[in-house]
Amino acid sequence: MTKKVHSLFFVFLLIIGLIAWNDLPQAYPASGVISAHSQPQFGNEGKNVEEKSINKTSKQDVIQAINQAPLTNSRGSAIQSFASELSPGIILTFDDKSVDDWYSFLVLNNKYGVKATFYVSFFHTLNLNQLIELKLLQDAKNEIAYHTTNHVNALKYLKANSMDDYLNSEIFPDLNLMKEKGFRVQDLAYPYGAGNKELDQELLQYFKTVRYTAYPPKNKKIADFNPVYLKDKRQRVLNAVGIDNGYGHTDEEIFQGIDRAYNNHETLLLYGHVISNKPGNANTSMQRLETIIQYAQKKGMTFHTVSELGS
Ligand SMILES: [Zn+2]
Repeated sequence: MTKKVHSLFFVFLLIIGLIAWNDLPQAYPASGVISAHSQPQFGNEGKNVEEKSINKTSKQDVIQAINQAPLTNSRGSAIQSFASELSPGIILTFDDKSVDDWYSFLVLNNKYGVKATFYVSFFHTLNLNQLIELKLLQDAKNEIAYHTTNHVNALKYLKANSMDDYLNSEIFPDLNLMKEKGFRVQDLAYPYGAGNKELDQELLQYFKTVRYTAYPPKNKKIADFNPVYLKDKRQRVLNAVGIDNGYGHTDEEIFQGIDRAYNNHETLLLYGHVISNKPGNANTSMQRLETIIQYAQKKGMTFHTVSELGS
């Protein structure tokens, strides 16, 4: 009996998966494929948004079926009407490939109308279910961004290889694959936070922004640490401070960090890896995320995606 229920559930998931998969644009225009000698085009973002809104109802249906909760809530309209000015706020980012765990962020999308940016590495290894999860996260207004093909340390790699080798091995393969699968990839985070000016200059030809990781010195709190605060939305080289358990920042310290952003009209950049309530250095719990969101929203602060910068 239990077996029968399981297989019925599996068939249900398969149907949902096929519906969502059909919804993935199969290919980007040829000009979207990037190689070492082509230039990126960021001028057509509006067009993409418009194209994607055509199938909106069916996408919402898919999300609704999986979440068993309504997608739109009283904050739904706030997501749509984001102003072009960057108001004081928070940018929440997540790195690597914990797509199954990231998927739980949809609950926060629906409950609070917030959004996050997910920087993906090893995209070529994701299975169909994970591709669908990532697509549903993008449909819920989150940004799907790039964290290279094989997550190598760029600085170490460049000691033995050329910049062209790096681009052909770590940048173009999965970037093109993600675009073919319908992901609007615009921003990059360096694995291990390892980059330099030369890399910035090269990669900013292909991305709107590059993001580093930054660690406040022992005698400084997040609120005293200027690199992770943004005042100018045209800034293209970014730094984020870690919120996973392993970074050792208390909720109180993060709240004070949020206070500074609010008082100074700045945007605070945060990053984590896995969304999980289990202990683990690379984990950030749902409870911590909810606390951060509630604290910032009480002050009327907005959660931006990275692609809202750099324009
Ligand atoms: Zn990483």
